[in-house]
Amino acid sequence: MVSEAKKSNPLAGRRLWIPRMTHIGARMMAAVFRSIGIDAAVTPPSDEKTLELGALYSSGEECYPQKITFGDFFKIIHSDGFDPSKHAFFMPMAEGPCRFGQYAPYLKQVLSEIGYSQVPIFSPTSRNSYDGFAEHGSKVMRAVWRGLVAGDILRKMLLKTRPYETTVGDSDETYNRGMQLLEGVMEKPGVSDSKRLAALTGALVQVRDIFRVLPAKYVKGKPLIGVVGEIFCRLNTFSNYEAIRKIEEHGGECWLSDISEWVWYTNWSQKWLLKRDGKTFSLSMLGAVIKNKVQRVDEHRLLAPFEEDFAGYEEPHDIFHEVLRPGWPYLPADGALGEMVLSVGKSIYLHDKGADGIIDISPFACMNGIVSEAVYHSVSRDYDDIPIRNFYFDATSSHMERDLDIFMELAVNYQRHKKMVRRYPAFFRD
Ligand code: SF4
Repeated sequence: MVSEAKKSNPLAGRRLWIPRMTHIGARMMAAVFRSIGIDAAVTPPSDEKTLELGALYSSGEECYPQKITFGDFFKIIHSDGFDPSKHAFFMPMAEGPCRFGQYAPYLKQVLSEIGYSQVPIFSPTSRNSYDGFAEHGSKVMRAVWRGLVAGDILRKMLLKTRPYETTVGDSDETYNRGMQLLEGVMEKPGVSDSKRLAALTGALVQVRDIFRVLPAKYVKGKPLIGVVGEIFCRLNTFSNYEAIRKIEEHGGECWLSDISEWVWYTNWSQKWLLKRDGKTFSLSMLGAVIKNKVQRVDEHRLLAPFEEDFAGYEEPHDIFHEVLRPGWPYLPADGALGEMVLSVGKSIYLHDKGADGIIDISPFACMNGIVSEAVYHSVSRDYDDIPIRNFYFDATSSHMERDLDIFMELAVNYQRHKKMVRRYPAFFRD
């Protein structure tokens, strides 16, 4: 017999597991859900078992991020004393050509085949009015957005500090401490929107100040490597075998494309589709414009205290003019869709910011990496021969170690004659 509480809220009495596309993003999301009374947690760290179980429940045709996500969920199912009436899985939905859109229906199918059809898959979208958030719908989505932006900012602080730290581990420790602080702000129940935003900004400033005083040698000249590619693989450190650390170990500093970039792209895409369908003057367009504006205001508020720290590391303000349009001659964004247009356009943006090389991180056999790779040669030729290299990852191998030495040498050579001057924050010295 299903209780009244469960009928009105399918998540009542269950723990909602959030997959870790990025560790910090998942933690922020789980914290937001906890703030409205949902018992949410991030899936435990991925490991060999993840790959084993991910492969067990896949046919071999699926993409690598799906194997990892499923593997992490199935580790929970295989854990001692698993009770299907006490768990639920979070798996957002998406439309378009990417296989991501198939993850949730496929997970449902597998769960049903193994006798766990009663475990709900929670896929909130605007189409189902964010079922499960009840009356909190739009507030939750805004809080999640703020959490993701805060996570992006914290990761950026980590990546711009770690290569220069003089005591190994300081930056990672500060980053972890920062995650806890942000989480503490996001999970508090009953806090007004404005108070939470002020507290989030305050927590970011607190972590910023710790980063600022970490012992470090900020000397100019370290090769700056832009990292683009498929969103899960470039951000999930398990799937890319800690690619960013490897680049740092080879003497580089990384500028990693963040999550917000994807949100700006989907916002642009939504407006472009409305225009294409003759709905330029419609309520849908008004809603899209307002959403974009509100998100920009939130982002601006959270980023404001980092102006000095991010001098020279500014992200694009206008995804169309600064990323999609420069990439248009190679991959027009009204025909090509998804990360490939972002990867190509962002590579050009990073070239203009003075990067010394670009690395594209993508899952093996994903069309995004394959299509981008096909045009990178022309991009490099047209932009001063900046080195651009694809690295593909799957559950069995990464060839990164083997080729990184050569790539870094190319980046150092390029740095010697490049035309675009890199701007540094004021505290760097020659
Ligand atoms: S972009 Fe590629 S790897 Fe990523 S979910 Fe889509 S199809 Fe899979």
